[in-house]
Amino acid sequence: MAKTLVFLEHHEGAVAKGSLGVLAKAAQVGGEVAAVLVGSDVRGLAAGVGAYGAATVWVADEATLAAPLPQPRVDVLAKLVSDEGFDTVLFAQSVLAADVAAGLAARLDAGLNWGLVDFDGETGKAPQLQDTVVVDVGWSSPVRLGIFRAGALDAVETGGSAEVKDVAVQLEDFSTQAEMVEQAHAEQQGPSIEDADVIVAGGRGLGGPENFALVEGLAKALGGAVAATRAVVDAGWYPYSAQVGQTGKNVSPKLYVACGISGAIQHKVGMQGSNVIVAINKDANAPIFEFSDLGVVGDLHQVLPKLTELIRARKAG
Ligand SMILES: Cc1cc2nc3c(=O)[nH]c(=O)nc-3n(C[C@H](O)[C@H](O)[C@H](O)COP(=O)(O)OP(=O)(O)OC[C@H]3O[C@@H](n4cnc5c(N)ncnc54)[C@H](O)[C@@H]3O)c2cc1C
Repeated sequence: MAKTLVFLEHHEGAVAKGSLGVLAKAAQVGGEVAAVLVGSDVRGLAAGVGAYGAATVWVADEATLAAPLPQPRVDVLAKLVSDEGFDTVLFAQSVLAADVAAGLAARLDAGLNWGLVDFDGETGKAPQLQDTVVVDVGWSSPVRLGIFRAGALDAVETGGSAEVKDVAVQLEDFSTQAEMVEQAHAEQQGPSIEDADVIVAGGRGLGGPENFALVEGLAKALGGAVAATRAVVDAGWYPYSAQVGQTGKNVSPKLYVACGISGAIQHKVGMQGSNVIVAINKDANAPIFEFSDLGVVGDLHQVLPKLTELIRARKAG
């Protein structure tokens, strides 16, 4: 029987939604499914993970693992894979997951497929060539490593419970040489764009950084997060962490409201997985209207304040 291990990333006392989505996918594929939590003071998160399909949650909980550094995590995962005989290790895309998966691939001499959107236990599906084709990808190594695209999978609860087991942590000397000097978090209110059900995104059509207040106002009224195009990020109007697209993040909210965004292919590839796309653009021929569910042809400076006011009034009533 296939044995799959899912790496669970966690932030501020919660397991990341992306990791839970990968776990739910692994459970749907079947076989023996386990998850691994690595960090300091993370044991409390383990029990809840059973609901997403893990029969076992391995916990490596030590003060020395507090910093989100990759090499100690590679040690933990490599030992688990060889001790327990996992044949598949799956990750949700993140900076840390990319480092851990790459280190594990080197350590185990295993193949690593990147940017997956689906997996059937043998073969993965990965969009290529700016998402114009989806290709089947496979592995020739005995252990298969895969990273799923951010936002590609839903964290579906199946209601099971997990047995929590401790991992005996043995770190290699070379894995403890790196030290986390500083960690800085961008100030953020509300959900992140990876986790949000609603995203309001602003583009060059806003006319200037000060007009992001219009986008933020609508996002706040809808309880959503703010995203941006590369054009405005490059112009310094909004931080890179909010950029959606080929060189930014992939998102798949229930609702994506694009304000003053032309709909270039490099932006489209990052948001086309959204359930409902609403575009507000003054140019009726803007490409964004070709893949929007609802389009408003108009000046966002007029549309956005009215829309925000209407939503606030509807919510208050
Ligand atoms: C290798 C590469 C990677 C890239 N990666 C990314 C990426 O990750 N993400 C990304 O977004 N882009 C990316 N780009 C850039 C991309 O090609 C586009 O240039 C960019 O997405 C355009 O951003 P925009 O829609 O904000 O601006 P524009 O294309 O300038 O569009 C502005 C839109 O606003 C409308 N508008 C103007 N005024 C108003 C108004 N008052 N009311 C309503 N609408 C108005 C206009 O009609 C226009 O459609 C990449 C490009 C390259 C070459």
